[in-house]
Amino acid sequence: MNYQQRQKRFWHPMSSAAAGHTTPTVVIAQGDGNYVVDVEGHRMLDGVGGLWNVNVGHNRPEVKAAIARQMDVLSYYQTFDGVAHPLVYDLADRLCAMFEQEDMQRVMFGSGGSDACETALKMARQYWVAAGEPSRTKFLSLRNGYHGVHMGGTSVGGNGVYHYNHGPLLPGCILLDTPWLYRNPWDCEDAEELVAHCIRQLEDTIAFHGPQTIAAFIAEPVQGAGGLIVPPATYWRRVRDVCDRNGILLIADEVVTGFGRTGCMLGSRGWGVAPDILCLAKGISAGYVPLGATMYNRRIAEAIEHGSGFSHMVMHGYTYSGHPLACAASLAVLDIVESEDLPGNAGRVGQHLLEQLQPLEQQFETVGDVRGKGLMLALDLVTDKASRTPLNPMEGFAARVADAARRRGVLVRAIANKVVMSPPLTLKLEEADMMALALREALHECC
Ligand code: PLP
Repeated sequence: MNYQQRQKRFWHPMSSAAAGHTTPTVVIAQGDGNYVVDVEGHRMLDGVGGLWNVNVGHNRPEVKAAIARQMDVLSYYQTFDGVAHPLVYDLADRLCAMFEQEDMQRVMFGSGGSDACETALKMARQYWVAAGEPSRTKFLSLRNGYHGVHMGGTSVGGNGVYHYNHGPLLPGCILLDTPWLYRNPWDCEDAEELVAHCIRQLEDTIAFHGPQTIAAFIAEPVQGAGGLIVPPATYWRRVRDVCDRNGILLIADEVVTGFGRTGCMLGSRGWGVAPDILCLAKGISAGYVPLGATMYNRRIAEAIEHGSGFSHMVMHGYTYSGHPLACAASLAVLDIVESEDLPGNAGRVGQHLLEQLQPLEQQFETVGDVRGKGLMLALDLVTDKASRTPLNPMEGFAARVADAARRRGVLVRAIANKVVMSPPLTLKLEEADMMALALREALHECC
């Protein structure tokens, strides 16, 4: 089978069509727990966890059995007004119980993270219509943030590469600087000072635009795709406080961080904050069947349900909102996440992996920073440690490191000048050691 030929017909997401997909593509044929096997029979530790989502590992019998059982009973039915199937209610109840601490009262389902973010942005606007302040339409978000690829999520996203070919974007999307100790416009290296800068910028921006024009602040508790950026511990609490003082809704995009990846069931919970809206996907069904969800707290549920006229009508939803197979997969996945305490494991094994990787900073001139929280980690590759200048992604160094690690039996992912890791949350300590060793050897080979 000639995959080099076959891949020509398929536009890989996030790839250069002009390059003709000439780089070797890893074609995965099988999954097995924390491992995958490619079409040539190479077995590799899945340090990418599919795409930050296969949190319970591949081919778990419990999840497959739940999907097969549901397939035998009802493989699809819709959930538009007045129609349902039992599992969609079971999953809605389960999620509200899991996030009772955040006062989550309602859920809408979609097929993935982009749906979850788009739904969140639209429902944030509807909240303000229902609450009698329809002038609140603008969104605040962070540079380097990633909120999927629909038009709203693209517009609030903080990385220009997703904007260039798709404008004009949604008006009224305002970007703020990222609370990133390693690179920030103030050259600030002190966590509390950095938070103070970011909060001052947030307050100034709100004052400039007028709080009466701003619907919501949306951000990831730990930025994933934008470079694995872990904010200082007090940042989210300070943001919540500013949002509260200005009436602004807080949307946590937990598409990656939800269901345990950072070492806590929610990334925002780990920061001590309860958002108004949660965007969930990836770990909710661990990749077995596509699923996304957007959850709303009591403030939003009550305003929309008690609104009058059109403002109480939820004219939003998808053919696949609450797909029965996705609900079955999700319920089985959530059983595993809770019974095996995967957030706890992610915290412990993630900390161990971080400690194994940190010495690379001293060992290699190109490794500028090693960072992470739970089982989301990255190596930040630089041309010069002092200036922290990122390696030019077009030179492909991070991709060569990832390729060298793959040849040593560990899959990791190159994103721009970073090597990123997001393995299943079932990762064992000895597998974390395998990842660290493969990366050390890969860097020796490439440097
Ligand atoms: N939000 C975040 C934080 C993400 O990382 C992603 C995907 O990586 C998305 C949204 C979009 O999710 P999807 O690719 O399932 O549409």
